[in-house]
Amino acid sequence: MPPAPSPLRVAIIGAGPAGIYAGNILNRLVLAAGHTVAIDLFDSLPAPYGLIRYGVAPDHPRIKGIVRSLQEMLDADTIRFIGNVSYGTDLTLADLREHYHAIIFATGAILDAPLAIDGIDLPGSFGAADFVSWYDGHPDVPREWPLDATDVAVIGNGNVALDVARILAKHADDLLTTDIPASVHAGLAGSPVTDVHVFGRRGPSQVKFTPIELRELADIPDVDLVVYAEDFVPDSFSEQLIASNNQVKIMTRTLNGWLTKAPLGASRRLHLHFMHAPLEIHGDGRVQGIRFERTEHTGDGGVRPTGQIVDYPVQAVYRAVGYRGSALTGVPFDAVRGVIPNDGGRVLDAAGAPIAGLYATGWIKRGPVGLIGHTKGDALETITRLVEDLPALIANGQTVGTAEAILAVLAERGVEFTTWAGWQALDAHERSLGAEDSLTIGRERIKVISRAEQVAISRGEILVTH
Ligand SMILES: Cc1cc2nc3c(=O)[nH]c(=O)nc-3n(C[C@H](O)[C@H](O)[C@H](O)COP(=O)(O)OP(=O)(O)OC[C@H]3O[C@@H](n4cnc5c(N)ncnc54)[C@H](O)[C@@H]3O)c2cc1C
Repeated sequence: MPPAPSPLRVAIIGAGPAGIYAGNILNRLVLAAGHTVAIDLFDSLPAPYGLIRYGVAPDHPRIKGIVRSLQEMLDADTIRFIGNVSYGTDLTLADLREHYHAIIFATGAILDAPLAIDGIDLPGSFGAADFVSWYDGHPDVPREWPLDATDVAVIGNGNVALDVARILAKHADDLLTTDIPASVHAGLAGSPVTDVHVFGRRGPSQVKFTPIELRELADIPDVDLVVYAEDFVPDSFSEQLIASNNQVKIMTRTLNGWLTKAPLGASRRLHLHFMHAPLEIHGDGRVQGIRFERTEHTGDGGVRPTGQIVDYPVQAVYRAVGYRGSALTGVPFDAVRGVIPNDGGRVLDAAGAPIAGLYATGWIKRGPVGLIGHTKGDALETITRLVEDLPALIANGQTVGTAEAILAVLAERGVEFTTWAGWQALDAHERSLGAEDSLTIGRERIKVISRAEQVAISRGEILVTH
């Protein structure tokens, strides 16, 4: 009998939704094409799930629940998770080339896009991504967050701006049923905030929110929602948009409904402002206020400045103007868009030609926009290209190493990598912390923040009882 052909060996860098969907689809399509495949899924963090764990807001358990279907994909034993391994430091492109026929980059985005206005670097001015990483217990960000402002501005009109505003405005105890670590609860509990203002450049019918995220603002206990009639200036373009797009219609109706809602005398307020373009953040040594220029509709979906200046006294500013992907050593990068240049997922060199064996998917392929579900379509496109390239990949990578060889490289370098079994141990531990919590009933988990502790629990170096 001829020996079984060795499997196609593929490394996926990034165990967020894009990487996991890619692994799942890859397994299915390569098998359908008559080959076997061995998939290693690396992440620089000890735990999988990317921004579902470290981006999605803690009070959105329904969204966090998407991990259940991703977990089934990883449980299926067709993808090997190897955590706490950073591409670029622990493993290089040359290492991966030596051990795999193909490499898929699914490294997402974790940094804030810049906002070039005066005062953006003043103490008290923050990026939303950093704050999100703090409240979601990301192991690599400072654990102290200065929550000392009574009045806060959030710049941006997308869902991340709403997440940040909601978490800032909510009373900390209303987050007690979520997975937030005790230090985050304590930080939020000490916040003296009374007013959170969200500002967008364009009109109420041009927001980038989604209807569910918008509507839930009305249900935050002891937080009054405030919108301003002068921001609701009708224009023909907006009217057309409302008539032609159901989502816009729903959100505009929601926002208009709030215009007539009487305040309930809550101790905190969340204000939504539109038609405000940020000009500068000012303050003597730290944020003391923010200046905007009012805008008006141009009639074609855009806005232009009116010359009318408005100042708001605030002690903290959060910019939620988008995320930004980071360059990876040895991989082409489009610094303007913050993505890996690609054609349907095939990584392109500076001349625009595909680089054999290199692929990209998810936010690092497409840019940091879109929901978790969109990364599935991304993955399908990328994997379809990879499967088209199968014959060449196999021919080019005759001498790739074995499944054990890459682990030996990591061990030799002293990299304390984590495994799927390790994540299951950490997961069980976090769930048991949630179950033990006496302050609440039915808390699903409490996250372990520290990377060292996560690694030690995953590697069985700290014995935990459940
Ligand atoms: C604040 C926020 C809230 C969101 N809320 C929602 C929501 O409610 N609903 C929804 O559907 N979508 C939401 N999204 C969008 C959703 O998170 C993204 O669509 C999705 O996570 C993108 O997936 P990805 O796999 O491309 O990237 P990511 O989820 O960012 O995963 C990338 C992974 O790559 C790893 N990585 C990065 N660099 C390296 C490296 N050098 N070596 C090894 N590993 C590396 C990272 O650690 C990470 O685990 C939200 C996004 C943000 C930012």
